[in-house]
Amino acid sequence: MFGFTLNEEQEALRSTVEDFARAEVAPVIGEYYERGEFPYPIVAKMGKLGLFGLPFPEEYGGMGGDYLAFCLALHELARVDSSVAITLEAAVGLGAMPIYRFGSPAQREEWLPPLCRGERLAAFGLTEPGGGSDIPGGMRTTARLEQGEWVIDGSKAFITNSGTSITSVVTVLAITGRSGDRPEISSIMVPAGTPGFTVAPEYSKVGWCASDTRELAFAGCRVPEGNLLGEAGRGYAMFLATLDEGRVAIAALAAGLAQGCVDECLRYVGERTAFGHQLGHYQAIQFKIADMAARARLAQLAWYDAAGAMLAGGTFKKQAAIAKLTASEAAMDNARAATQIFGGYGFINEFPVARFYRDAKVLEIGEGTSEVQRMIIARELGLSREDR
Ligand SMILES: Cc1cc2nc3c(=O)[nH]c(=O)nc-3n(C[C@H](O)[C@H](O)[C@H](O)COP(=O)(O)OP(=O)(O)OC[C@H]3O[C@@H](n4cnc5c(N)ncnc54)[C@H](O)[C@@H]3O)c2cc1C
Repeated sequence: MFGFTLNEEQEALRSTVEDFARAEVAPVIGEYYERGEFPYPIVAKMGKLGLFGLPFPEEYGGMGGDYLAFCLALHELARVDSSVAITLEAAVGLGAMPIYRFGSPAQREEWLPPLCRGERLAAFGLTEPGGGSDIPGGMRTTARLEQGEWVIDGSKAFITNSGTSITSVVTVLAITGRSGDRPEISSIMVPAGTPGFTVAPEYSKVGWCASDTRELAFAGCRVPEGNLLGEAGRGYAMFLATLDEGRVAIAALAAGLAQGCVDECLRYVGERTAFGHQLGHYQAIQFKIADMAARARLAQLAWYDAAGAMLAGGTFKKQAAIAKLTASEAAMDNARAATQIFGGYGFINEFPVARFYRDAKVLEIGEGTSEVQRMIIARELGLSREDR
């Protein structure tokens, strides 16, 4: 019951992804990052390795694993680079998973096989330019049924994987009706290239520079009625379930970044000297690295705990929020400490810790900010906001 030890199969997967990240990602990702370019060749290799199909059944071209296997892969990738890790996280956790969980048999058969092979990517469009935390209250995108088609109007902001040349579909949340004063929200799949669906150029981002993030616009965009994913009006519940799982995945990614900072510092302090001694011989540096290792391990245990609760089939909302909060803050703290240990080189983009520093911040923002995680935890603890 208390074991956090990986079994043989899980350890084999973990070490395969670790080797892949060191051999195939580490040597080249810095150049893609500098150019702000999506790393298609790396994504193709990740596809061949089966990473995009990890948690899906073999009948759809998946690997027949589970969400823990997917999170292990994210953790190992993020020890080396977060752009490729978030590309995988968004493609599987946000893109393909809702199609698998809520799609009809025909929708699964149509969309999942190329997604599981990593030949195509799916995206999930929830956030809008006017607000991400305040969903559904702040949502403005609408879809109405007209002669057997959904007509979508509105816009979405910050959507990962939405504009690559291999993006096949974006699942968009839109208001499709009202129940009293509450909006009814549905999820609708919009294939890439649909007329009326425009993808803006890449944002210029602080971090995750080799991942694809765009603003989307929908103007009278028509898709068949059959592109509804799940039941009409159930989109909000689907989105909550998707995000609870996604938080475990982001926590695994963040814990991986936190561990990557430890890996890099251990190597560096054995090489760099100051005042006639290796940096690693100074206790002030050792204590910094000890704190970093402790934070990385706690972050890892937090996502193991949430993933374990998820796989056990019970409620895991609180564990997922705790894991996401803990791991993203550990990543940010470790990135700051690692940059400090590297001194001037920590500020030079060529060094992985500089990338870690730039990539860590968004982990406290995406898939629910740290404030939103605290709200969830407080609510799960039974604290009411009625008398605020
Ligand atoms: C690189 C990147 C990739 C992303 N990928 C995707 C994607 O694929 N799909 C998608 O749908 N979204 C995506 N997002 C959006 C992301 O999930 C949102 O940015 C996030 O949920 C926060 O929403 P917001 O930016 O609108 O901030 P806001 O909701 O405007 O929040 C602004 C600030 O106010 C705080 N705040 C808000 N409400 C409260 C409150 N009640 N009490 C206290 N504080 C509060 C927030 O915590 C935050 O600090 C991505 C974002 C980025 C940057």
